Amino acid sequence: MDNYWLGKAAVVTGGARGQGASIAKMLTRAGAHVYVMDCLPAGDIAWQQLQAYSKIQSGSLTVMELDVARPASWDAVVEAVQNSKLALCGLVNNAGITGPRNTVTQATLEEWEHVLRINLTGAFLGIHALAPLMRGGSSIINISSTVGLTGYYSAAHSTSKWALRGLTKSAALELAPQGICVNCVCPGVVDTDMNKTNLNLYNALQSIIPMQHKAAPEQIADVLMFLLEPNSSYITGADIAVDGGVTSGGIYWLVAQAVGAL
Ligand code: NAD
Repeated sequence: MDNYWLGKAAVVTGGARGQGASIAKMLTRAGAHVYVMDCLPAGDIAWQQLQAYSKIQSGSLTVMELDVARPASWDAVVEAVQNSKLALCGLVNNAGITGPRNTVTQATLEEWEHVLRINLTGAFLGIHALAPLMRGGSSIINISSTVGLTGYYSAAHSTSKWALRGLTKSAALELAPQGICVNCVCPGVVDTDMNKTNLNLYNALQSIIPMQHKAAPEQIADVLMFLLEPNSSYITGADIAVDGGVTSGGIYWLVAQAVGAL
């Protein structure tokens, strides 16, 4: 929306690369000041690329090398936002990891706690710290996944993404009277580094997507931008799949095709 972001700020976690960088770029292009939190080390090429991009946009960004799972990280963000005197109007809890993708009986307690701590507790800490700074018309988005809408073999990852939907609904109910929207976006298979750790799996996943291609990070960010801006001001507590049709019965369609029923 024209000029909406001028003089306003947003926080994006896990924003140095992938989907987070994509929404951070869109926000700076729209004129926002974006606080980008990510645990990648300061010298990482991803940070440099993001900073170079933001320099030629109407908005700007502050790079914050922080771990979302640590409460002290959020103290630092609160201080930065308060010192800026900008109106904080958006929070995207996007930081996430897959972990080793083990099943319930394979996963160790350490793995379970590590994944939940980043994917779920990180988002809780973010809302807990920043919602009190937000005013009516602001928007909070938690990034879940289609593995938070369907059964999935990786226990910790799947549980964290289902739980984010519950966190979203609790926060949406609490913050609705103040006019703050809280929604959950569930991407399908997206072309980012996260998937490059197991290329066999990643390439095979293409076969379950009715649209027959993976999402570009910008296709997710376009939806986030809509949810961050006033045109979506009556949507709250929603789970929005952005998955090329994966959770819309795509698997039944594939089976029907395979047995010649279609
Ligand atoms: P990505 O790995 O490219 O980006 C994730 C970012 O989060 C990285 O920059 C990473 O450094 C950061 N991060 C990880 N742990 C952190 C921590 N403790 N503190 C701060 N930053 C941290 O992957 P992506 O695809 O851009 O993932 C973004 C979100 O989308 C994640 O929550 C992921 O679970 C979710 N998602 C991804 C896909 C996919 O196919 N890629 C599908 C569904 C959902």
